[in-house]
Amino acid sequence: MLTLECPYCGVKADETELGPGYEAHLKRFGPDASPEEFEAYMFARKNPKGVHFERWRHAYGCGKWFLAARCTATLEVFGTYPAQVGEPPADIIEKIKARRPDWKGYK
Ligand SMILES: [Zn+2]
Repeated sequence: MLTLECPYCGVKADETELGPGYEAHLKRFGPDASPEEFEAYMFARKNPKGVHFERWRHAYGCGKWFLAARCTATLEVFGTYPAQVGEPPADIIEKIKARRPDWKGYK
């Protein structure tokens, strides 16, 4: 079972207490975007076997959205952090690189 620590309230919640928000760090486009950019934003999602960055909501806790870095194959969690940041924190990136030397980055 997947267990994530909410970065706001510190509770280690299993996935039944959380609501999925799917992929994190999506680039949003404004009204001047091309149809291709908007289509990619709306529908194109990564589905990696390995390191993935996701949005989660502590639905049955504090109710706040946060981001998590985890491995989709092993459920290893590299860390969680507030949803208001634009990029993953450096300590989480370093932890992933240490555990997955062949990882290509999150973009
Ligand atoms: Zn919480």
